[in-house]
Amino acid sequence: MNTVTETDGIREVIIIGSGPAGYTAALYTARAELKPLVFGGAIFVGGALTTTTEVENFPGFPEGVDGPVLMENMRAQAEKFGAEMVDDDIVEVDLTGDIKTVTDAAGTVHRAKTVIVATGSGYRKLNLPSEDELSGRGVSWCATCDGFFFRDRDIVVVGGGDTAMEEATFLTRFARSVTVVHRRSVLRASQVMQNRAFADDKISFAFDSEIAEIKEEDSKLAGVVLRDVLTGKTRDLGVTGLFIAIGHDPRTELFAGQLDLDAAGYLKVASPSTRTNLPGVFGAGDVVDHIYRQAITAAGSGCTAALDAERYLAALT
Ligand code: FAD
Repeated sequence: MNTVTETDGIREVIIIGSGPAGYTAALYTARAELKPLVFGGAIFVGGALTTTTEVENFPGFPEGVDGPVLMENMRAQAEKFGAEMVDDDIVEVDLTGDIKTVTDAAGTVHRAKTVIVATGSGYRKLNLPSEDELSGRGVSWCATCDGFFFRDRDIVVVGGGDTAMEEATFLTRFARSVTVVHRRSVLRASQVMQNRAFADDKISFAFDSEIAEIKEEDSKLAGVVLRDVLTGKTRDLGVTGLFIAIGHDPRTELFAGQLDLDAAGYLKVASPSTRTNLPGVFGAGDVVDHIYRQAITAAGSGCTAALDAERYLAALT
């Protein structure tokens, strides 16, 4: 069991999360001389973009930029202005009072007048061997991010909801063919999304099917094996793109019971601000956003959260 220690002093701002939202909030609050303390997680420092290769849609990089490099640069830029980074998890919070407390995994309690929650969301996975290693090498969770890389390729999309239909339809702009793989015999997607997908010549469907195996060659996706869930029969599908669209889970377990969450567990904010239901607590990035989920939108809301926190602190004095 960890010993609980308390740090001296009360911070102006604590930021939980080191993705584009957390680092942008850190940059802005640091430049406002609020000396932010940023908890970036023990194993996932830099957030979702550290799990990909080329990022081509973050403005300012005409040649594209490697995901981990982009995140290291964001961190360095925030540190340059005085942001303090701790690569550890926050395991407990009390956000209810005027002074908020957050406890790190080592058991140290940190106090602050404001907290910015930027913990992101996790894409649901198939949990198959090679899935993680091939992220950015044929396996993707985001058509908007990666569709462009799949021109004239044969692609499989896994999922049966609105997101899967949207991803499949979007991918036909680039792909030669798109096969939608769904475990059931009927889709969950809304009728209008289904109709659009059914009407698209490039899209075909493998119902009552799941991905049994991901094939790898030279560190790239080289195909998948489909299994019929009713008969157990398998067949090879020669695709070089696999898009997984089976949902995502916001990282909000820590805040349940204190911060208002929507039915899917996303943090509720008083949009267009980033204010949560608790004064002095702000939410930014994918932990709030279940629609856009892009690095630039996360960074934008991290900036908004920093400005909201700044104004809240100014009103206290
Ligand atoms: P995240 O980047 O998910 O960061 C969340 C952070 O919170 C992490 O650092 C995590 O460690 C930390 N955290 C969580 N819980 C705790 C805790 N309890 N204590 C401390 N820290 C905690 N978007 C694009 O715009 N372009 C792309 O090309 C692109 N490609 C992508 C490729 C992949 C493989 C993936 C997965 C996503 C991609 N995205 C892309 C989406 C983009 O990465 C996300 O929209 C963006 O990273 C969200 O930023 P965020 O700051 O909200 O959260």
